[in-house]
Amino acid sequence: MPNWSNWSGRQKATPEALHFARSEADAQALVAKAAQLGRKVRVAGSGHSHAPLVPGEGVIVDTTGLAGLVGSNREARRARVWAGTKIYALGRPLHDAGLALQNQGDIDRQAIGGACATGTHGTGTRLQSLSAAVTGARIVLASGDIVECNAETESQLWQAARLNLGALGIVTQLELQVREAYRLQEQGWTTGFEELLPQLTELTPATRHFEFFWYPQNDSAVIKTIEETSAEPVYPLGEEGGRTGWSYEVLPNHRPHLHTEMEYSVPAERGADCLSEIRRLVQTQFPTVRWPVEYRTVAADDVWLSSAYQRDTVTLSVHQDIGEDETSYFRACEEVFLAFDGRPHWGKVNYLDGDALAAMHQRWQDWWAVRDQLDADGVFLNAYLQRIRPG
Ligand SMILES: Cc1cc2nc3c(=O)[nH]c(=O)nc-3n(C[C@H](O)[C@H](O)[C@H](O)COP(=O)(O)OP(=O)(O)OC[C@H]3O[C@@H](n4cnc5c(N)ncnc54)[C@H](O)[C@@H]3O)c2cc1C
Repeated sequence: MPNWSNWSGRQKATPEALHFARSEADAQALVAKAAQLGRKVRVAGSGHSHAPLVPGEGVIVDTTGLAGLVGSNREARRARVWAGTKIYALGRPLHDAGLALQNQGDIDRQAIGGACATGTHGTGTRLQSLSAAVTGARIVLASGDIVECNAETESQLWQAARLNLGALGIVTQLELQVREAYRLQEQGWTTGFEELLPQLTELTPATRHFEFFWYPQNDSAVIKTIEETSAEPVYPLGEEGGRTGWSYEVLPNHRPHLHTEMEYSVPAERGADCLSEIRRLVQTQFPTVRWPVEYRTVAADDVWLSSAYQRDTVTLSVHQDIGEDETSYFRACEEVFLAFDGRPHWGKVNYLDGDALAAMHQRWQDWWAVRDQLDADGVFLNAYLQRIRPG
């Protein structure tokens, strides 16, 4: 049987079949064949999720062959993309069309369909997640039918599809709200955490993108700010300190060290207090943890399962080496995050059951109702999704 594993190697599967969909017709035929054989289907992007979203025992369909820009409309600031396109491969064609994504996360290795399926985000108090930019989707359903959805047509399905956990079907194309191409300038500096804390409320919204990593070993904060600029790009990027270039060149970073990660979004106004509590926890109970804690912001949206649903958030991420057992550290952090009304990132580690998730997501029942109506037999559900499914 074939092997599938995620980026960190922590999530593994040996499905009965692993297929690489290279066209929409291929995706459609794979779903039809799975139905004929009574197999479950899970969809994979780049496998960068730490959560057990992709593993399944039936068929795993890798969508990264469904790649490229389908088309764009500069005036409407819209782009239609194949869902398997790696985010890094979108930068240049969008740029050539005079367009760019409104924001990006820390890395650009994910497939755009996988990133949107879990609410992937960057940082910026006025910037929403990638899921919030989804204005339309084209999906191969469990029935084998292809459906187009957006705010006007099949609007309930569109709402559910913006952040879909791979549970609605194979998303073949996405339509995204984009913006005109723009240049960014990055700056960075390091300071003591105690010095940063009183300035945080002022610093966080002062630039388009603000984030920092708090390092437990020396109690320092490594800060990064990124602002729009009309300055010309300087290549090679970063040779003279902070990078200056087009958005798709400046926003992504390299994350070469394999790790596992938990991230929670807390109400923006509670972010600093929550981080202070995590810092106290690390300093008093987990003094050997070397991995930093990341602090970012995401603007409120109306995406049903979004961790920023109807509230501005601060996101806090804790990491651990894949060679270490993260369980006691992450469980202790999760208790803190929950005390601060946190909601977990769908692509990262959490230990919540369906009741806990239902209590923090107002549109939980709506999302499942749309999903279950399209796929009553649970073709697109794996063990994890079955475990959190209502009732
Ligand atoms: C090093 C690293 C850095 C990261 N940085 C960030 C960050 O800055 N911000 C952030 O928010 N997150 C970040 N993440 C998390 C990551 O963005 C999410 O887990 C994202 O979902 C991964 O995308 P993927 O293409 O790898 O999807 P996968 O992990 O392969 O799949 C994720 C989900 O999407 C579904 N899916 C994928 N493609 C399709 C499709 N075509 N149709 C239907 N369903 C589909 C899958 O079934 C699954 O449920 C990071 C992860 C890593 C490992």
